[in-house]
Amino acid sequence: MTTMQPEAPVLDAACFQRWLAETTRLVRRDAERLTELDAVIGDGDHGANLVRGFGAVTAAVTETRPRTPGALLTLAGSTLTNTVGGASGPLFGTALRRTGKVLGDTERPTAGELGAALGAGLRSVQKLGGAEVGDATMVDALAPAVLALADAAEAGRPLREALDEASKAARAGADVTAGLQARKGRASYLGERSVGHQDAGANSVALLMEALRTAVDGAAGDLGAEGGTDAAREPVTEEPVVEEPVAGEGGRARAGVSTGRVGVVLVSHSKAVAESVAELTRALLGSAEPGPLALAGGTADGGIGTSAALIREAVRTVDEGRGVAVLCDMGSAVLTVNSLIGDEEAGLPAGTRIVDAPFLEGAVAITLTSAVGGDLDAVVAAAADARDYRKR
Ligand code: ADP
Ligand code: MG
Repeated sequence: MTTMQPEAPVLDAACFQRWLAETTRLVRRDAERLTELDAVIGDGDHGANLVRGFGAVTAAVTETRPRTPGALLTLAGSTLTNTVGGASGPLFGTALRRTGKVLGDTERPTAGELGAALGAGLRSVQKLGGAEVGDATMVDALAPAVLALADAAEAGRPLREALDEASKAARAGADVTAGLQARKGRASYLGERSVGHQDAGANSVALLMEALRTAVDGAAGDLGAEGGTDAAREPVTEEPVVEEPVAGEGGRARAGVSTGRVGVVLVSHSKAVAESVAELTRALLGSAEPGPLALAGGTADGGIGTSAALIREAVRTVDEGRGVAVLCDMGSAVLTVNSLIGDEEAGLPAGTRIVDAPFLEGAVAITLTSAVGGDLDAVVAAAADARDYRKR
């Protein structure tokens, strides 16, 4: 008589569907705690951000049922960037998208292959957000998890054990952030006062790794039941505000050139700020005919934050084929724009560039340069001049 051997766990698409269901469950379970952690040294939205983001991922994955782990993670990443609206959206989004891309079409990656892909995901987060280990961010949980997974895989440990090590390493990394001063993200504004509090995003990384550890055992819940919740639905996207030219009526037609001008997009956490900066900018243009200008202010449902959908739409609206300069205020606005520019599938025109300048001064400088027909390099240089201009 033969005894039934339990099947060895594998990292297939079904496993990652269970990972998503379990992640969504854990994020909901801990939403209040994550929000509290973020409230002490940030702005108290991290739990809500992730509940919204993973709800949307669940809906997207339920609809398309990606056939490989790589495809699922890539879809999860893009969806997070598009729906979260805080810094963690583009950061987690980039990490998962990059991990998915590196896994490619592999149907059952090994622990070592997952470790290598997650390592690429980690590097993409660091490139986007500039955080090193020890800056008290999600990197402090992700980096040790990647290392533990790679080490365990190299030592030939079974998958379950390797993920156990990775999950524990992420948790330990998150705990350590309590003793560190935050040097990136909103918490860094508090300087030394951030010491003594754990970082929220590092805790979420620990949850994601714990969910993967659970998912290989095949025990986590099914996606289907959770798919269509309200949290999963992206708010209806408002049309971006397209600023009409106010001076030199018909000027664009008069110019009669097909070359167009450099488009300008202003991205602020606040719709009101974007609008008032645009108002001052227009007033300072004098008799110059304004170039194409669009605003992506606040979230799609009118709140404070960043909306990838509004940014994409604004860039599309002002693109006349000569490039688009995007100027942001800070934090998640910068991260979201950089992450969209780095993702070919986000569909931004090839000549889309982020410019670096203080928001108001930069807006005036680049709008003027675009209005007088400067090319993209001239617009980027005008922003740099505005940045370097000293006030004392
Ligand atoms: P926001 O900061 O826009 O409100 P969240 O509250 O959702 O966004 O996410 C905050 C988390 O994002 C932080 O706890 C931290 O882990 C992570 N984070 C923020 N900025 C960075 C960065 N530059 N690099 C790495 N992680 C970051
Ligand atoms: Mg926050």
